[in-house]
Amino acid sequence: MTVAFPQTATEVSEFLRNLNQSRQPVTVTGGRVEQAVTHSALSLAELNHIVDYPARDMTITVEAGVTLRELRTALMAESQQLPIDCADDSVSIGGLVAGNLSGVRRYGYGTIRDYLIGVSAVDGQGREFKAGGRVVKNVAGYDLCKLLTGSCGTLAVITQMTFKLKPVPAAFGFVLASFETWGEVEHALTRLLQSAAVPIAVDVVAAKDVGTTFSAGRGPLIVSVMVDGPNDVVDWQLETLRRELTGCLPASIGVLSSDSAVAWKAALDEATTKSGCPSSFSLSCKPADVWRAAEALMAADGHLLVHAGTGVIRGRLATEVSSIEQRLKLVELIYGMKITARWQWTNQSGPPTLAGLTDAEWQLSRKVKVCFDADGRFPSFSRLAGGAMNQA
Ligand SMILES: Cc1cc2nc3c(=O)[nH]c(=O)nc-3n(C[C@H](O)[C@H](O)[C@H](O)COP(=O)(O)OP(=O)(O)OC[C@H]3O[C@@H](n4cnc5c(N)ncnc54)[C@H](O)[C@@H]3O)c2cc1C
Repeated sequence: MTVAFPQTATEVSEFLRNLNQSRQPVTVTGGRVEQAVTHSALSLAELNHIVDYPARDMTITVEAGVTLRELRTALMAESQQLPIDCADDSVSIGGLVAGNLSGVRRYGYGTIRDYLIGVSAVDGQGREFKAGGRVVKNVAGYDLCKLLTGSCGTLAVITQMTFKLKPVPAAFGFVLASFETWGEVEHALTRLLQSAAVPIAVDVVAAKDVGTTFSAGRGPLIVSVMVDGPNDVVDWQLETLRRELTGCLPASIGVLSSDSAVAWKAALDEATTKSGCPSSFSLSCKPADVWRAAEALMAADGHLLVHAGTGVIRGRLATEVSSIEQRLKLVELIYGMKITARWQWTNQSGPPTLAGLTDAEWQLSRKVKVCFDADGRFPSFSRLAGGAMNQA
């Protein structure tokens, strides 16, 4: 396999122009070249500088190969953050945007799409282009930042990004309530909709999937509610949530703050990121359907983290069967639920397999692909519909 490690956007552009002459396809990667699905790979690992960090403006501009760890270290010095959860801090920022990663705090903070205000990229013909800018108030032309977020290397090579930032809150904590049945969980989730507190994350996880920290002797399903802010506000919110959820008659209830909150948050991030098996998936449905979908998946021995507030379920099936069997089982399960859902595999090399697109959405996606990559230099996404996989 040929791997190129460009150090500037111009080198990315030259690489793609030369590639065009030889008409080979290329996999774009944040550094994990072993995941390349084509003979030629373009690693952004050496395009790795923090370009500009005007902390007072609360924005930062970075190249695509900067890792999440490097970004977090730079921001921490100014008590600022990009509030996107990912336990694996070796991911590149280009990969984070291209994969549209998100985690537990998506409920309160949104996704990377909400923070990306400027992007520089190179299309399949090797043409450099920019969208947005380095300041928060900058709205002109098509919002290509949103289009490239989640594009998984199918449209263009992202070379540089500007993000707006948030301050790091003084404190955060969790209320954990465990329940015996999904019916009880649904009741608690409905109660949370009327809460006087403002949670930034509402998740459900099986006690068996998060070790013994909180699970011993409690109900099998844990509702986890996270809040953050100034110390006194966090204390008030935790007490309010504890009182409200106690009214839902949980098998047990507890409040986590300080170090135990940090450990629990790390466990949730780990569960979100865990994608070490072929059937790892992420499914989005209406929050009102989430507990029904989760119940069906868990009954089929799924290991899940349910972001109940946003309707996103991440998980994997038991690993004793082959990858094909696992995937078929999951496809069958999801179609059997008869809910409106979109889902994708999250542990595959190359571009995503999209499911749940209407024909019109599919046609539009194909047209956009042609605008950026007329010659098919980047991998195509594929579509899964009606239980059959159709290669684009
Ligand atoms: C569809 C999908 C969704 C995922 N969702 C999550 C999630 O929500 N949370 C989580 O923790 N993990 C998630 N993962 C796991 C994910 O693989 C990694 O956490 C992360 O993307 C890896 O970053 P990386 O820098 O190693 O990128 P890679 O693994 O190299 O690339 C990830 C994807 O982004 C593309 N890409 C990388 N860099 C660029 C660039 N500069 N320009 C254009 N495209 C680029 C690649 O072609 C590939 O499609 C997901 C994986 C997939 C396939």
